[in-house]
Amino acid sequence: MANIIESFNKINSNIKKLSPNRAVNIVAVSKTFSLEHIMPLINFGHQHFGENKVQEASAKWKLLKNERKDLKLHMVGKLQSNKAKSAAELFDYIHSLDNQKLADIFSKFERENDKKLKYFIQVNIGNEIQKSGVPINEIDGFYTYCTKEKNLNILGLMAIPPNDQNPKKYFKTLSDLNASLGFKELSMGMSADYEDAINLNATFVRIGSSIFGSRS
Ligand SMILES: *Cc1c(COP(=O)(O)O)cnc(C)c1O
Repeated sequence: MANIIESFNKINSNIKKLSPNRAVNIVAVSKTFSLEHIMPLINFGHQHFGENKVQEASAKWKLLKNERKDLKLHMVGKLQSNKAKSAAELFDYIHSLDNQKLADIFSKFERENDKKLKYFIQVNIGNEIQKSGVPINEIDGFYTYCTKEKNLNILGLMAIPPNDQNPKKYFKTLSDLNASLGFKELSMGMSADYEDAINLNATFVRIGSSIFGSRS
C-alpha cells in the first residue's frame, strides 16, 4: 500500500506549482475505502473528502462528522431524488446538482433546517446520452431557477469529460461557460487529468486513486 500522506503531499505541491496564485481545493475522493484507510489523511489535517454514494458515505462519516466539525464532505456522484434529503443532512457540498426536482428538495430542506449547502451544477459537457448533467443549452435557465426561485448557493459548474478522449477541449468549454456565468469556483479534474483542469482554471479537483490507491 502506497503511503497516502506521501501521495497527497506530492499532488499538493504539484498543484501549488501549477497554480501559484490561485487556491485549488483538493477533494480527496474516498469512495470504496474504509474509514481506517482514510484516517491518516484526516489526522494529517486534510478537511475536504468526497463520496459518490449516500448510504456508503453515511455509514462511514456520520459519527465522525459530529465530532469533527471542521470536516467537509462533498457528494460527487449521481443523486437519486429519494436520497437527496439524506444527502442534504450529511454533505456540505453537492457537485452533482442537475435537475429541478433535486433543487426543489434541497431548497425545501434548507428552509426547514438550519443548514445551507454549497452546490455545483453538473454539466453534460460531452452531450453524452448516458451521462448525467444539464445540457449546455439549458444551463442558463437552470442556474436562474436554482438561484432566483430556490435560493441555492451555486458556486460554479462541474463536469466529467467523456472517457478515452483528450479532456482539454471539454475543460476549456466548461471553463468558458463558468466564466460567462460569473462563477468564481469550478469543479473539474480527477487523478488522470487534474493538471489540465488546473491549467484551465479549476478551483476544486476531485482526486481519488492517486491518493488512496486503486479501487478494487
Ligand atoms: C471517483 C470519482 C472521482 C475520483 O476519481 P479518481 O480517478 O480516482 O481520481 C472524481 N469525480 C467523480 C465524480 C468520481 O466519481
